[in-house]
Amino acid sequence: MIPPIASNFVAGETPDEAIAHVETLNQRDIEGILNLLGEHYEERADADADATAYVDLVTELAETDAEACVSVKPSQIGLEIGEAAFEENLARIVDAADCLVWIDMEDHEATDVTLDAFERHARETDGNVGVCVQANLKRTREDLERLAELPGKVRLVKGAYDEPSDVAYRQKARVDQAYRDDLRFMFETFDDGIAVGSHDPAMIEFATELHAEYGTPFEIQMLTGVREDAQSDLAGEYEVYQYIPYGRKWFSYFYRRVRERKENALFAVRAILGQ
Ligand code: FAD
Repeated sequence: MIPPIASNFVAGETPDEAIAHVETLNQRDIEGILNLLGEHYEERADADADATAYVDLVTELAETDAEACVSVKPSQIGLEIGEAAFEENLARIVDAADCLVWIDMEDHEATDVTLDAFERHARETDGNVGVCVQANLKRTREDLERLAELPGKVRLVKGAYDEPSDVAYRQKARVDQAYRDDLRFMFETFDDGIAVGSHDPAMIEFATELHAEYGTPFEIQMLTGVREDAQSDLAGEYEVYQYIPYGRKWFSYFYRRVRERKENALFAVRAILGQ
């Protein structure tokens, strides 16, 4: 059972709880992106078990009216065991899914294999997959040129991994500038499939300006428990998705959310003290 303080950021431990969360969100015109928590598996059995859980999830989703897709981490379905394990498990999930399957992006050593897997499935499914790219990586602009030619969706984020300076921008202002440059490139070049994965009001506003300038459709994606009011407000005008973590491995995810912002830490302390 997830304590109330953590359930702000995590939708429950079971697929049924996560789908119930989606149904509530759908009433606010927000769609869901379900993410079963888990990563960096070193045993094939663990990777296979989570891939099977995703197969079951997409099968269950197809039997409901919930408007949601899924997002999976490469290291959760076998990348650190071997590329073959990752590719086999990803293919199982994509083959079983009616909904779109997002592939999260992990550290820079995973970028090539992740983009290659995305490209293969994007072509085979005519775009029923999405991939995340990170503005902090210096290579991303070039990757976007490749992705612009493919069907499917692309989520632009700032990047959550602590990367070395030979491959990544490390100063916040430089990452923000790269995010703006990449977004402009996407709105100029993509026909559709643009996802703005950010809580940053400045980036969201910039995306709406680019949309007004170029007319290219786009969606906004934010995490469960972060700027929920803004999610509802934006959903009145734009397509908004909430990325919804769930599952039994919730503790380290919750701990990361609490650590990344002072406000979240204060909120946690108040909840623990019952104030
Ligand atoms: P920041 O640059 O952290 O903050 C900018 C401003 O945004 C803040 O000043 C504040 O005004 C607002 N803000 C930010 N956080 C909060 C908050 N908690 N509460 C209130 N206001 C806030 N990273 C990856 O590397 N790979 C992935 O696959 C990936 N997928 C993601 C999917 C989604 C849907 C999202 C939203 C993020 C994902 N990320 C991923 C994380 C991403 O790379 C960033 O680390 C994270 O989103 C923080 O950057 P930001 O643009 O949201 O805002």
